[in-house]
Amino acid sequence: MKSHFSLILLSTLQCNADCEYCFENKTDDRLTIDRLGEMIRKVLDYMVEKSLVSLTIYWQGGEAMLLPPSWYEQAQELIQREAEARGKQVFHSLQSNMLAYSARWNPVIARMFGNSVGTSLDYPNRYRKLLGQTPDSYNEIWGRRVREARAAGIEVQVIAVPNQATLDLGADRFYAHFVDELGITDFQVNTPFPGGESNIAKQQLPVAEVEKLSRFYLDLAEVWLERGHNRGVRVGPFDALLRQFSHEPATLPCIWGENCVNALVSIDPRGQVAQCDCWVTSYPDYHYGNIFECDNFGELLKTSPARQQFNQRPVHLIQRDCLNCDYLALCHGGCPVRTYTVYGSLFEKDPYCELYKILFGRIERAARNLAQAGVQRRAA
Ligand code: SF4
Ligand code: SF4
Ligand code: SF4
Repeated sequence: MKSHFSLILLSTLQCNADCEYCFENKTDDRLTIDRLGEMIRKVLDYMVEKSLVSLTIYWQGGEAMLLPPSWYEQAQELIQREAEARGKQVFHSLQSNMLAYSARWNPVIARMFGNSVGTSLDYPNRYRKLLGQTPDSYNEIWGRRVREARAAGIEVQVIAVPNQATLDLGADRFYAHFVDELGITDFQVNTPFPGGESNIAKQQLPVAEVEKLSRFYLDLAEVWLERGHNRGVRVGPFDALLRQFSHEPATLPCIWGENCVNALVSIDPRGQVAQCDCWVTSYPDYHYGNIFECDNFGELLKTSPARQQFNQRPVHLIQRDCLNCDYLALCHGGCPVRTYTVYGSLFEKDPYCELYKILFGRIERAARNLAQAGVQRRAA
């Protein structure tokens, strides 16, 4: 949607977890309501200039729940007031590790976030943990909080990042854990990338094992097509791809967007602006500027040399690596942050190119088969 804009807003850079593969440089910075007001007025004024109709704010951290529910209530009121004054619509989405969740969050989650929360868990969990503790205690607290939230009627969507142990275990077991054991019917599998300062955990991520990772994705797609697709289980990115290849409205992940620069931006509590959460927390050289130090947000974006580099990426790729690709119109060369963290340059195609091609081919075939089966059913 060209008239829509997304903002990944990091309300704090503090976190109550200590995940080994985390790409964020965590600090004690927290956004105040006053500064939120200044920030949001500038973003909304930019939307007026650009005739953008609606905005989705993805609230993240650090850990977003380290600010209290009352803070978000105030934030929602303020944003609503400023948006209405400019005739704009704002939607809110919450991403949390759920460790600090309790029933006192329920009213604000219902009112502000459509009774839905996004969270993360890997299986097996090797890297997500609390400071000085094991991944098992993280799993235990996370599991308890997620059960409580779901018992309160909150929809919980999960993002999982495969690690070596996930690939060894296989797609069948992975799917069974989320769907059959945890009862999660909406989850997304993200490809890993070694963002931020290097460490052993990041070096162990299966980034270079595209073949093995592709096998896992293909197997998971088969399991989902067989056991989940017709039973209301949503597994990203397969479900969105299936809709896309079936010519139905689909929201594909940002990694396959035309150019993520045109669709979203991220701001941290210090006002630093960058492409998305990893860039804003870990790569100061790629900051677009500071929203509190500018008079006009549109000018900041337009004149940022870092942002110009992002803008040039698709053209470079179309002229070179991706020119003859059958899926260019769908993939656009993939994700800049995955590319940069693997190759140290923006001007290469996504390191998961081969995985994407295999996956696109498989889901395209599934869409064709489903369409044919539909025709045969109707003719019978
Ligand atoms: S990955 Fe998320 S939950 Fe884990 S330490 Fe980093 S910010 Fe916190
Ligand atoms: S850099 Fe990648 S993850 Fe970040 S917004 Fe762009 S496509 Fe999305
Ligand atoms: S699948 Fe590969 S070659 Fe095709 S557009 Fe994506 S990155 Fe480029």
